[in-house]
Amino acid sequence: MKIAICASEVVPFAKTGGLADVTGALPLELESLNQEVIIIMPRYKAIQEPKFDIWRLKPDVSYSVIGKNIKVYFIEDDAYFNRDGLYGDKAGDYKDNLDRFSYYSRRALELLKEINFSADIIHCHDWQSALAPVYLKTLYIDNPFYKNTRTIFTIHNIGYQGLFSQEEFPKLGLDWKFFNMETLEFYGKINLLKGGIVFSDIINTVSPTYAKEIQTKEFGYGLEGILTKRKNDVFGILNGLDYSIWNPETDKYIAKNFSKKDLGGKAKDREDLESICNLPEKKDVPLIGIVSRLAEQKGFDILAQGIDTICRMNLHLVILGTGDLKYHLIMQDMVKKYPKVISLHLKFDDALAHKIYAGSDIFLMPSRYEPCGLGQLIAFRYGTIPLVFKTGGLADTVNKENGFVFDKYNAQELIKTIDKALSAFADKKKWQQLVAKAMELDFSWEGSAKKYIELYAKNNLRLNR
Ligand code: ADP
Repeated sequence: MKIAICASEVVPFAKTGGLADVTGALPLELESLNQEVIIIMPRYKAIQEPKFDIWRLKPDVSYSVIGKNIKVYFIEDDAYFNRDGLYGDKAGDYKDNLDRFSYYSRRALELLKEINFSADIIHCHDWQSALAPVYLKTLYIDNPFYKNTRTIFTIHNIGYQGLFSQEEFPKLGLDWKFFNMETLEFYGKINLLKGGIVFSDIINTVSPTYAKEIQTKEFGYGLEGILTKRKNDVFGILNGLDYSIWNPETDKYIAKNFSKKDLGGKAKDREDLESICNLPEKKDVPLIGIVSRLAEQKGFDILAQGIDTICRMNLHLVILGTGDLKYHLIMQDMVKKYPKVISLHLKFDDALAHKIYAGSDIFLMPSRYEPCGLGQLIAFRYGTIPLVFKTGGLADTVNKENGFVFDKYNAQELIKTIDKALSAFADKKKWQQLVAKAMELDFSWEGSAKKYIELYAKNNLRLNR
């Protein structure tokens, strides 16, 4: 199949979040499964030689290559993209984001024709590329070049929708008839994510459970209605994990490498972490790790409510992350109160993250909602047992057989489940079995890419209807 991936960020060229990991890893797997893939993204300021090999195709289009032969085309426009940030700066979102990403989406479609890439599938991601399917079904509807092209739209987090004021609508070049409740309008504003949902042939999100959740009022951020209307076209595919980066056997950041056959190194990594964190070395006390944004989405509201009680339990806690100031302050207070129990690192630190995944016994991720989640998948590979709230990708990957799960979102349930985990930890033999089982789980990209190919093929079936 010929697949064009349109995304506003792609590893290794530009990244602000998990979206870039997916759009960087999925094409590589698709290529190794014999699919013909290209990627189209904006050229931001940081995409420069010599950091990357870049060739010129046209005055406003350059390209690089990843994998064996995947061309990554960069749409250039200095006024729009030659900036440090992708979507904004310290002052907030860039004011011209609608101009920037409508231009990008339309230029991407034009480019397909110019390079004669008659895609079977255009795979778009999040609000930034959501206008490509919109344009395909409106401005380009009668253009024979795109006759056989179908679209799939992936929602990575429905909390981010690309909302713009109605006054900006003329910039889109679309007839006003598309500004209504059934298409691009959302409570008087333009909603680009909604456009992607309405105009794409197939919609998916990054876990099966999140695909169902976003069709409910609780998780849908106002788009549950439009998603429910299209429920037969909404799917969920878990993201994979890049095991070349997250591998305790080869990890360069950790004190000692280890494997499921030889767990000796994990004990050393725990000692190393305790020493970095100034926590007393106590083998019988479980070490709980958190690597996360300090945000309500990640469960910090119930964690903050329960933290005093949790610190009085028989455990040690290491927290790495930044986020909302109020959670910084609450956790800082706890460090003052329980300095021998909790160690706090308010920063982004990749090396320390690796050390926490390797050196902890339990990985705490009580997210209120979680489209997919990577932390729990990484923890598994390092033999660190996840404790999670049953939601989204966490519900699809963690269960009572391989971790600890609570299903009512409140501080009491969180505390109860931590208590359960502490009791389980006390049974050394059973714990070792749990660790061994966790390390065997496989969430590689290969499995996910095969599912995407099935979805693309489904998309082709629609064509024959
Ligand atoms: P989200 O993308 O919603 O923040 P995920 O669980 O999908 O959550 O991915 C988070 C990724 O970012 C994980 O790889 C995690 O290890 C990493 N991460 C989060 N916070 C930090 C931090 N402070 N330092 C280092 N890595 C972090």
